[in-house]
Amino acid sequence: METFSQAQVKALTAMTAVDRFSTGQSNRELHRRDFSHHVGQMPAGIIWPVDTGEVSQILAWCYDEEVPVTPWGAGTSIEGNPVPTQGGLVMDLTRMDRILSVRPEDLQADVQPGVLRKSLNREAGRHGLFFPPDPGADATIGGMIANNASGVRTVKYGATRDYVYRLKVVLPRGNVIQTGSLAYKSSSGYDLTRLFVGTEGTLGVVTEATLKLTGLPSNYLAATVTFNQLEDASRAVAVLIGAGLEPAALELLPPQLIRLINQERKMDLTEAPSLFCEFHGISESTLSETAGLARELCEECGATGFKSGISTADRKQLWQARHEAAETIQRAHPGKKNMIVDAAVPLSSYSEMVVFSQAAVDDEKVSGYVFGHAGDGNLHVMMMGDPEDKTEWFKLESVNHRIVTRAVELGGTCTGEHGIGIGKRRFMELEHGDSYGLMKQIKEMIDPKGLMNPGKIFL
Ligand SMILES: Cc1cc2nc3c(=O)[nH]c(=O)nc-3n(C[C@H](O)[C@H](O)[C@H](O)COP(=O)(O)OP(=O)(O)OC[C@H]3O[C@@H](n4cnc5c(N)ncnc54)[C@H](O)[C@@H]3O)c2cc1C
Repeated sequence: METFSQAQVKALTAMTAVDRFSTGQSNRELHRRDFSHHVGQMPAGIIWPVDTGEVSQILAWCYDEEVPVTPWGAGTSIEGNPVPTQGGLVMDLTRMDRILSVRPEDLQADVQPGVLRKSLNREAGRHGLFFPPDPGADATIGGMIANNASGVRTVKYGATRDYVYRLKVVLPRGNVIQTGSLAYKSSSGYDLTRLFVGTEGTLGVVTEATLKLTGLPSNYLAATVTFNQLEDASRAVAVLIGAGLEPAALELLPPQLIRLINQERKMDLTEAPSLFCEFHGISESTLSETAGLARELCEECGATGFKSGISTADRKQLWQARHEAAETIQRAHPGKKNMIVDAAVPLSSYSEMVVFSQAAVDDEKVSGYVFGHAGDGNLHVMMMGDPEDKTEWFKLESVNHRIVTRAVELGGTCTGEHGIGIGKRRFMELEHGDSYGLMKQIKEMIDPKGLMNPGKIFL
């Protein structure tokens, strides 16, 4: 559905305001692509609601008119999650961007879905608190909830799912429900909050969330550790965690990626298989003891270099480089599109997965970088190619398929954090078996006309 009738345009404009509904070409183009190679069907229009009432009215109208609706946050997804596959209406939530309250005494915040992660952290920071899930990109809270985003700090603090107490959700027919409570814990009935987290906008639109906050660490210590082999680096991960060192970040990077970072940022990191680590602690002395033990353990795993005592400025630069690694790779391959593997496995299989993935990349001779949130057993392989070059793109698909299949065989998942979107739908049955059927039934019950973000999660 690429166009609206005049009557439909009139109805949608009346539900919002002239400047909050657009059928303009450039707005529609901007809401057709995320960070991935997926290109959606041109949406017929974009709408920017400002409150739950408007969202409810719009969804009820879309339900009656049978118009597909795709929610949109910051559009930073990596699997085509907010890309409209059937045109229709894109609901951009970025104008619902109010932090309704930060309640430090409860360690909670109430927010609208368009609030950006960094804005929330600026506000929470005034109270010595923060919202830890950190996908690097300055995503919206709604998009993070919908994708169950996580990132470099998940190894210590958990994923978005662990930080949501209560949600307000508008269902496809326009009815508004509230899930969860403000209590720290609850055994009351089905956990609908956890059901909605990770559903990628396929069951409704989140219009408000109560989030858990936690105290900002008082002391930080970063370390870079180098190894001769990527395998040794990945083996050290379980050892560090198993020793109870509680790293706040434990990232694996290959020499090829470090070379790109050095070139782009004029840094002088050792171009070897590496772990970037961060520890949070109550005092400098505790952290220096932690670093001493971490060094010993890494050396037992074959580390060839261990650099800690990194200054605050250098630590920030290091993490910025890591956060922007995907953009760095993208910039190093102008004109190419990315395909990113996001498999996650139990920690005991991480090293095997790293070796397997590098071998798959080498076998198919594709341009690919194996890195990841090692502390969570989450592996990214970012491959660059041209979707129009069928032979080349087929090789990328083949590497993706081999790695995901192996991850699932090892008891893992096809996506640790990016979500299913369009790109990972074909792995759902393999990973979930009969539970996939139950997911379909839930979708059909809540969204019988299949209008909410169609073409995502389910084939
Ligand atoms: C360079 C880069 C690095 C990244 N690194 C990470 C990483 O380390 N970890 C990680 O987890 N992710 C990572 N991502 C992916 C991405 O940033 C996250 O998935 C993020 O949560 C997407 O949020 P968004 O606001 O951009 O949402 P969008 O991409 O706009 O939307 C995401 C999904 O949420 C739905 N949605 C949006 N708002 C709502 C709402 N209010 N109600 C219901 N559904 C909604 C959309 O329909 C879509 O399905 C990275 C992305 C980039 C570009």
